[in-house]
Amino acid sequence: MSKICSECQQENPSTANFCMICGTRLVENTEMDKMDELHNELSDAKDTIKVLKDVLKKQKTEKTNNNDISPDTNTVNKFCRYCGKPVSVSQQFCRHCGKPL
Ligand SMILES: [Zn+2]
Ligand SMILES: [Zn+2]
Repeated sequence: MSKICSECQQENPSTANFCMICGTRLVENTEMDKMDELHNELSDAKDTIKVLKDVLKKQKTEKTNNNDISPDTNTVNKFCRYCGKPVSVSQQFCRHCGKPL
């Protein structure tokens, strides 16, 4: 199930909280939900950082031997600088925190 942005009709993944093209909020939250979400985001971010560190470590060790392995440019290859979650290059706004990328 995908979410269609009410502002720009962009199709976003069902997990998206914000439109990845225009940054419009896709979910309505009560204050309680918001708190839960923040807690989840926080633990998610911690996990992401852990994963990122592992990836960086791996890349460092692999870099010397594998110079011509190019990552798939259409998939996740950059990370939101605000929340640290993976985003795709086609996104203009982070679908997790709604910040412009
Ligand atoms: Zn939109
Ligand atoms: Zn973000």
